[in-house]
Amino acid sequence: MSEQPRAAVIGSGFGGLALAIRLQANGYQTTLLEKRDKPGGRAYVYEDQGFTFDGGPTVITDPTALEELFTQAGRQMRDYVELLPVDPMYRLCWENGDVFDYTNDQERLERQIREMNPDDVAGYREFLQFSRDVFAEGYLKLGSVPFLDFRSMLRVAPQLVRLKAYRSVYSIVSRYIRNEHLRQAFSFHPLLVGGNPFKTSSIYALIHALEREWGVWFPRGGTGALIQALVRLFEDLGGEFRLNAEVDEILVTDGRVKGLRTADGWSAEFDAVASNADVMHTYRHMLRGSERGPKEARRLARMRYSMSLFVIYFGLNRTYPDLQHHMVLFGPRYRGLINEIFNGPELADDFSLYLHAPTVTDPSLAPEGCSTYYVLSPVPHLGRANIDWEVEGPKYADRILDYLGEHYLPGLRDHLVTMRLLTPAGFRDDLNSHLGSAFSVEPVLQQSAWFRPHNRDDRLSNLYLVGAGTHPGAGIPGVVGSAKATAGLMLADAGLTRRTA
Ligand SMILES: Cc1cc2nc3c(=O)[nH]c(=O)nc-3n(C[C@H](O)[C@H](O)[C@H](O)COP(=O)(O)OP(=O)(O)OC[C@H]3O[C@@H](n4cnc5c(N)ncnc54)[C@H](O)[C@@H]3O)c2cc1C
Repeated sequence: MSEQPRAAVIGSGFGGLALAIRLQANGYQTTLLEKRDKPGGRAYVYEDQGFTFDGGPTVITDPTALEELFTQAGRQMRDYVELLPVDPMYRLCWENGDVFDYTNDQERLERQIREMNPDDVAGYREFLQFSRDVFAEGYLKLGSVPFLDFRSMLRVAPQLVRLKAYRSVYSIVSRYIRNEHLRQAFSFHPLLVGGNPFKTSSIYALIHALEREWGVWFPRGGTGALIQALVRLFEDLGGEFRLNAEVDEILVTDGRVKGLRTADGWSAEFDAVASNADVMHTYRHMLRGSERGPKEARRLARMRYSMSLFVIYFGLNRTYPDLQHHMVLFGPRYRGLINEIFNGPELADDFSLYLHAPTVTDPSLAPEGCSTYYVLSPVPHLGRANIDWEVEGPKYADRILDYLGEHYLPGLRDHLVTMRLLTPAGFRDDLNSHLGSAFSVEPVLQQSAWFRPHNRDDRLSNLYLVGAGTHPGAGIPGVVGSAKATAGLMLADAGLTRRTA
């Protein structure tokens, strides 16, 4: 019998894949189990009539964290996938006609800031410095370090105080910048990882420095091509990947995980199990047979969860040459709308949207002469607004498409070839996401680092978590960082030393 320890990773989101690769590359015989028919989780791919739709993440930041997955396995990312630069990183538009190209070019950035408010140029430079300081502390030093005990939190407390982590991103940005649209331009980023800019710790202001450091990228062939590259890397290393394998139960005996059983009855023993599935689903459902599961689920039920998203994927039989790849379309309200998105109790009348137009960068994602899009509206999760999305979804989609047709994509309705919706109910049912949250546990200071569900369970010493619900949190850089933290623990616990980082 082989001496190699066996690990199972449940779920093939970015976090699950990154962890499975690290484990397989460093000595675990690893099995990756995915409930759905395709890998990727939030990064699932839909295809119709020659149109390719990335289901979720599209803004690829920190390519170095992805590259590291390949290099630590002795491979090169360029042999698996090509990343294309996206510039401007985003175009931001307001209803009064203000347009701001959020670019990595300091001069272009400052010119636009000057046009909106000359006094804000100096303030922006100070904000950039602040953001870089937080990035150095919060991301480079702590982004992939597990916080397992309270002492680890106390150790970083002085830095948190120095960086004013108790203040919100919006309040920090407002200290430096006066113009309201510029405040929005530099404070909306927490929304990309499920955070409320008015509540999320100023630590999340680091996203600006992260984007300025490495830029924004898009894989040729879409985010799905990056997922395929990670799957191929995992399989090239000898890992076993099982699709349509929904784990029904994690089996626990005498305070240790022994193995797992899938919904179709397959079961196996493992030395260690890591869950990339939703944290509440992991404890409440998969660990329901253990003492630990229901207890931890009760604690998790008291946490705050991120908002959900309403997404319309659509393909048009024409192109719009004036669009940029990533567009944020601000509606009439900012603070009031965000408050309603995070607290409900119903769907707001207005919206702010993110429009994804990937064929601007890679025309191969649509048939010749056509273009591919998704438009996303943040909405309350099912615990904040109990909306019947079967009924309301199509009506809400009509309102959004009418708005887009009126303001940004004239004639949209006449050129619609294909369309599908993802609602909070889809997050709940397809991804087992608690309350249909799009980003899991909300990233506020009281739910960050040690206060977040830990990368290794406190009681079951061979059960681990990876992905958006654990440290450091949602977003591709976050979950890939969580995989590094979790892999470090699993390899150390098994007495395996990693080849590199
Ligand atoms: C619409 C949208 C847009 C986004 N845009 C961006 C962006 O531009 N940039 C960015 O960095 N981030 C973005 N994010 C956030 C980012 O996509 C997520 O935080 C990240 O992908 C989550 O990865 P994860 O590892 O937590 O796993 P998930 O993607 O949540 O995957 C978990 C996997 O577990 C599987 N699973 C669940 N239960 C079981 C079970 N019982 N058995 C087996 N498998 C199971 C699920 O099917 C799923 O495949 C976006 C998210 C969404 C929803």
